[in-house]
Amino acid sequence: MAKVFVITGPSGVGKGTLIRILRERVPNLELSVSATTRPPREGERDGRDYHFLAREEFARRADANDFLEHAAYSGQRYGTLRSEVERRLAAGRSVVLEIEVQGARQVRAAMPEAVLVFIAPPDPAALRARLEGRGTDTPRAISERLRTAELELEAQQEFKYVVCNDELERAAEELERIVRDELDP
Ligand code: ADP
Ligand code: 5GP
Repeated sequence: MAKVFVITGPSGVGKGTLIRILRERVPNLELSVSATTRPPREGERDGRDYHFLAREEFARRADANDFLEHAAYSGQRYGTLRSEVERRLAAGRSVVLEIEVQGARQVRAAMPEAVLVFIAPPDPAALRARLEGRGTDTPRAISERLRTAELELEAQQEFKYVVCNDELERAAEELERIVRDELDP
């Protein structure tokens, strides 16, 4: 049966990296493309990495109830369009959402059958090192993301599954096992 998988956790913990590996190993998992008001980073493409929306357009779509969930994060808005999820489920395809914690809570409330996985860092210092190593955010943006991460880390016990992304291959295997077991119990 098609399912919704929500991968959450602080910025820089490795959600995107783990999802990329997961999708190479588990066929037919489709990624929901989120909407955001954040400007594109170098190399990001509209419709592939995000639907990049102007603030007015995001607000209009929120008012129209087009979002399954949406949240404010680091001064920008991010949200999952219902259409991204519903059309795939209707076609019998499982969907993966990569979203922050407030959004994950909203999905849990709206879709109790969704499978939620929190990705945790081996220690808080790893987040700074990974965000700096990724090189996509200014020092100021990194500080803000790390401040938010403190609150997000406190939320991890709310989630059914917690995967510690210590060593990438080990964490990827653990996530793959969770997803396979949920798809074929
Ligand atoms: P997120 O999507 O959670 O913001 P990313 O997937 O972009 O995080 O990962 C942030 C950075 O950390 C990337 O440069 C990535 O290559 C690196 N990274 C991911 N997993 C690990 C790991 N287990 N050990 C070391 N570095 C990692
Ligand atoms: P980034 O700016 O690094 O792409 O994303 C910042 C944060 O927003 C990350 O934690 C990411 O998972 C989260 N995010 C991305 N898309 C969505 C979404 O559709 N909804 C919510 N709630 N968070 C999202």
